[in-house]
Amino acid sequence: MTLSAPPLKVERLALSRFTTLGVGGEAEVWTVHDHAQLAAAMQAPYRVLGGGSNLVISDDGVPERVIRLAGEFAVRDLERDASLSSEREYVTGWIGGGAPLPGLVRELARRGLSGLEGTVGIPAQVGGAVWMNAGTRYGEMFDALYSLEIATPGGVRVVTPNDLEHGYRKSGIGRDEIVTRVRLRLGSSTPEEVTARMTFADEARKGQPKMKTPGCAFKNPGGVSAGKLIDEAGLKGYRIGNAMISLEHANFIVNLGGARAADVLAILEHVRSIVGVPLELEYELWP
Ligand SMILES: Cc1cc2nc3c(=O)[nH]c(=O)nc-3n(C[C@H](O)[C@H](O)[C@H](O)COP(=O)(O)OP(=O)(O)OC[C@H]3O[C@@H](n4cnc5c(N)ncnc54)[C@H](O)[C@@H]3O)c2cc1C
Repeated sequence: MTLSAPPLKVERLALSRFTTLGVGGEAEVWTVHDHAQLAAAMQAPYRVLGGGSNLVISDDGVPERVIRLAGEFAVRDLERDASLSSEREYVTGWIGGGAPLPGLVRELARRGLSGLEGTVGIPAQVGGAVWMNAGTRYGEMFDALYSLEIATPGGVRVVTPNDLEHGYRKSGIGRDEIVTRVRLRLGSSTPEEVTARMTFADEARKGQPKMKTPGCAFKNPGGVSAGKLIDEAGLKGYRIGNAMISLEHANFIVNLGGARAADVLAILEHVRSIVGVPLELEYELWP
């Protein structure tokens, strides 16, 4: 007996509940559980939402449909695929693009599987993290990808990392394409070794605020720390409404509670006008 997917859900929802910053107005949210539902959702202009950890969404929301991956796109099959694995490589089954990355990273450590520990602490979904090849100096998503399933308006395709022009924080996957599932190529290690590497990589996050935030605001211009430039401009603690430049790390804007996207955008503008160096935004603005 095969279980049928839960029905497609279409609701008007505030997007603030899906972002790590906790801001964002309403949109029509399509929660899809399988390929048939996803194909239906992709019939009109859409955006895909992952963990909402790299987004500042307008207080007015967005006009397009917002697709959320659930059901078969949120499960993970971590069993070793014997037909693809070798002594040195452990290839997993399919892992949904809507699965949370932090839980996956923890589970891989528990199983002693190595390859994604450098991404510890990134509060993304697997698909969102792959889409921008998220990572740290200790490793990035493409280090551990074996294959990817991508939904496009024209159908579903399976590709390997070599088929994509990926690089530093870019995957080569188009704006209208959705990472539905991936398979990982991992190394067999021990839980102790993987956990030790995770703990080491996590140390670098010590100075980061634990409050609601979409992560780093600006890219480091020409190798100079954006946080240092903002700090030196005396902007730590600068506040508009309930959004504030973190006291702990100047490249983070935090939501003190009830902040609006407009407040965050005004802070970004102010920082740019004060710091005498062109600063490129790290996160994405919707719309
Ligand atoms: C506290 C904190 C720490 C962070 N640390 C890091 C870090 O160390 N390194 C780093 O690289 N980033 C970091 N980030 C930023 C963020 O986690 C990454 O950019 C991450 O890749 C965003 O993934 P997401 O699933 O949250 O995507 P979202 O923020 O939901 O979306 C971002 C973009 O990805 C697209 N997208 C989402 N899901 C899919 C999908 N399934 N298929 C195709 N496109 C999709 C969206 O349409 C959007 O364009 C941090 C953020 C926070 C809040």
